[in-house]
Amino acid sequence: MEEGTAATVGRFASRVVRLLGLRERRCVACREPFEPEDGADRAESSVDGVLQRFFCPACRAKMKRRMTGFCPYCGEPSLLEDAPCMPCERCLVRTPPWNDVMFFGVYGGLLRELLLRVKFGGSLACADVLGRLLATLCVEHYEVTVKPDVIVPMPLDRGRLRERGFNQCREIVRHVSKDMGVPVRSDLLVKVRQVTPQELLNREQRQNLKQPFHSTGVDGLFVLLVDDVCTTGATLERATESLLSAGASRVDVAVLARSSRFEKDGAGAASCHEAASPAMHNAGKARRAE
Ligand SMILES: [Zn+2]
Ligand SMILES: [Zn+2]
Repeated sequence: MEEGTAATVGRFASRVVRLLGLRERRCVACREPFEPEDGADRAESSVDGVLQRFFCPACRAKMKRRMTGFCPYCGEPSLLEDAPCMPCERCLVRTPPWNDVMFFGVYGGLLRELLLRVKFGGSLACADVLGRLLATLCVEHYEVTVKPDVIVPMPLDRGRLRERGFNQCREIVRHVSKDMGVPVRSDLLVKVRQVTPQELLNREQRQNLKQPFHSTGVDGLFVLLVDDVCTTGATLERATESLLSAGASRVDVAVLARSSRFEKDGAGAASCHEAASPAMHNAGKARRAE
């Protein structure tokens, strides 16, 4: 009897909420209003939950998580999305220096657009949602295994950091840290020079190039290195090498998007720390000044 009454009250309450439009949200991507599915708030601790809460059904369908069809060592997506996870040609010869790699999706489409809005438009709303996505992805990954000791965001060089005012990667990393209960230590890895296309050379040839990163204080630490986009993996490899040679016991890598040579609009992917055109920088500044 009591249960029946509670259910009736519950139904009535949700009808009132619906009639008043209280449940209505705006999609973070297209800004159109939509009504989140029942339970989307409660399910926010899952990747699907975050998508349901912040994206309208049409945009949600465009935010595709890549679950199979990539190289398990470097994350390089294969041509077919539903292909099994197999080592790519590069990793058959030599695996990257990190242990695990995790990413949400292939760099392209709506995911690319949101990342560009964060990078060049300074959109904190997009950084917030992407941060939540990466955080749930990481929490999921470490649910059954040992957690990292520290989270290290991919550093920007000093000049660029000052110019842009804030590091959007750090904004994304904040959520990862909060949800995992692992501290962020952006002082452990510093960029000392630009990463050049030459870094794409194999490891032996690279030995002659000066390390673009400098790390300290990581002795014995398990580091989770976080970036927004992994393009060729060269920058992340260099950063991982630096952390390991400074004594880190293990380095894992987490990014939102992984570039694919098969994705048509994935070309020219540049992560937070890579160069941007001056016009786009200014667009970002103007937006934040509003
Ligand atoms: Zn939408
Ligand atoms: Zn690979």
